[in-house]
Amino acid sequence: MGSFERKVLVLDSRYEPVKVVTMELGFVLLYAGRVTSIIDSERVINGVSRVWKVPWIVRLEGCRPRNKRLNGPRFSRQNIYLRDGFRCQYCQCSGLASNLTLDHLLPSAKGGKTTWENIVTACKTCNMKKGAKTIEELGIKLQRPPSKPQLHPTALFPLRYGITTKNAPQAWLPYLDLSVADRALVLGFDASPVFVNSYQQDSLIQV
Ligand SMILES: [Zn+2]
Repeated sequence: MGSFERKVLVLDSRYEPVKVVTMELGFVLLYAGRVTSIIDSERVINGVSRVWKVPWIVRLEGCRPRNKRLNGPRFSRQNIYLRDGFRCQYCQCSGLASNLTLDHLLPSAKGGKTTWENIVTACKTCNMKKGAKTIEELGIKLQRPPSKPQLHPTALFPLRYGITTKNAPQAWLPYLDLSVADRALVLGFDASPVFVNSYQQDSLIQV
């Protein structure tokens, strides 16, 4: 995604990132008293009679942090790949999303559910080999049992805006956890639409 030269990072009262807004909106929020400036930039907006400074980072005043962001990532194909580090959980080969598939540990024909605990990333070769068998039948041992990821929401935030170490303004770096977004960038995976703000029931999502 593009440059953040004309953007402002908005933090909540706990200094956690909540939004990226345009320079113009950041300016309006600041001069309306809704936010305070944490770090000023050299950027300016030219008014009729004076020049206004635009901050790099602002903090919302008296705003309670949004608890719903703590509910974790949505159950989706891309998030399962991300949880498994884009690695086949059977042979441990890693690859791009186009070479990966999702596999039911306990096959759906045998009553296996489509849940975080029963779905793993598998390469196409392993998926073919496994078919409708169970891993016990094939003698495969998983390195770790699959579970619902407990990513901290600050690690998910940059993905929503396509922020990475490469394009983030220097001033933002101390306030962002870019580990997940950087990994997605290296793997050539556009993760921006993957994470949602609120928790969704697993049963509502089709993988
Ligand atoms: Zn494999």
